[in-house]
Amino acid sequence: MKNQLVFATNNVHKLEEVQFKVGDVFKIISLNDIGCHEDIAETGITLEENASIKSQYINKKYSLNCFADDTGLEIKALNNQPGVYSARYSGSRDFKHNIDLVLLKMRDITDRTARFRTVVSLIIDEKETLFEGIVNGKIRETPTGKDGFGYDPIFEPDGYDVTFAEMRLEEKNRISHRGLAMEKLIEFLKGI
Ligand code: IMP
Repeated sequence: MKNQLVFATNNVHKLEEVQFKVGDVFKIISLNDIGCHEDIAETGITLEENASIKSQYINKKYSLNCFADDTGLEIKALNNQPGVYSARYSGSRDFKHNIDLVLLKMRDITDRTARFRTVVSLIIDEKETLFEGIVNGKIRETPTGKDGFGYDPIFEPDGYDVTFAEMRLEEKNRISHRGLAMEKLIEFLKGI
């Protein structure tokens, strides 16, 4: 049987991305799969703190090896906002509202430089290790594309003329913040 590893999320998009990335090396188990239906409060003020809060919570409560991620969209002209507050930037989890607010704040701004940053906290045998993944790009003026999730329709990665929401999962995964952090995690796991 494959090794199993809990990913402290119920976000189906993230689960699909990460399972795709790790392939046959691990079977990724969600919070639902271990019977955890709580909304773990993300009370940290950095991505590192939030990733750690989630993985520590699951590790302590269920005594399972696990990892958790936290991601922020960091926009240069907005002093790296929404950053750690990306999930509820507009006060709602509705992504239409969050995207509308970003576009409103960026209305008269020509420097559209932005990046996605993911921090993953992995706990194996009570020892925590952090991994970071960054993808640089820019904020589009209008949302484009139907795939992906969250801010994908307004994020165009450097070197491409399409948004994340116009890319196939495989392609996004190859260059994305979470994909890069997961590659580091996989390399780490191969070495222990
Ligand atoms: P989380 O706290 O890691 O779930 O992420 C914070 C917010 O950023 C969430 O509301 C997500 O929808 C958004 N987000 C995370 N990853 C991505 C991504 O790969 N593309 C677009 N938005 C994302």
